[in-house]
Amino acid sequence: MWRKLRIVILLLILATVVQQLWLDKVDLDWKRNFYVAVYPVNVDGSAKVSAYLRTLNTEDFEPVAEYFAEEAAPYKLGLRRPIELQLGALVDELPPAPPANGEGILSTIIWSLKFRIFAWTNSPEVSVKPDIRMYLLYHDPAAQAELSHSTALSKGRIGRVNLFGDSEYHQQNMVILAHELLHTLNATDKYDLSTTLPVYPDGYAEPGKMPLYPQDFAELMGGRIPQTETSAEIPKSLKHTLIGDITAREIGWLR
Ligand SMILES: [Zn+2]
Repeated sequence: MWRKLRIVILLLILATVVQQLWLDKVDLDWKRNFYVAVYPVNVDGSAKVSAYLRTLNTEDFEPVAEYFAEEAAPYKLGLRRPIELQLGALVDELPPAPPANGEGILSTIIWSLKFRIFAWTNSPEVSVKPDIRMYLLYHDPAAQAELSHSTALSKGRIGRVNLFGDSEYHQQNMVILAHELLHTLNATDKYDLSTTLPVYPDGYAEPGKMPLYPQDFAELMGGRIPQTETSAEIPKSLKHTLIGDITAREIGWLR
């Protein structure tokens, strides 16, 4: 009996995965906008972060929706706001951490399945059923100086985003969120993983600029604003970033 039930459940999960793979492929045609749910998580259980999270509201995420609206405008998608963000309730559990580098493809596949199951079971209701779910892992800046890598999956459209839980970091957090969000829509990284320097020309906001350095903006998936051939600055807010042609093509804005 239990064995049969387990098989049925596994088959249902498999059917959902297949269906989702299919949906992910067809819906990058921007015939309608994407609804994103952002779910805050207090990683260290810090009281300070908890107090900060209580102050968050949907308006705080409006700059991300506005940014995508502005960046999409030249591509004439016929959507005034291609991406809408909704703030969901706090999630108490931590999404599973991705495997460390070098653990192999199998552990990555298992992790991505675990993460998707996590997302199905940890999706507090928001007013419009979300197409994309982003778990915002807020860390206490007093407890750690650096954030570990964020990860987002286009298959399943889910993200695990490491941020600092302090209003001082909000603008920078929105850059990280927007970057990870585009990963869920098939955009790829355009920086060198070992040096974090944007890759020329794809990771440059203005690859044709004369002189080339310093650049004024970061390409969102390039991550940083190149200052010289060997140095780049972290953008302070989305105002210092833009979406380049290659990224626009990957997410289906440019055909
Ligand atoms: Zn990335």
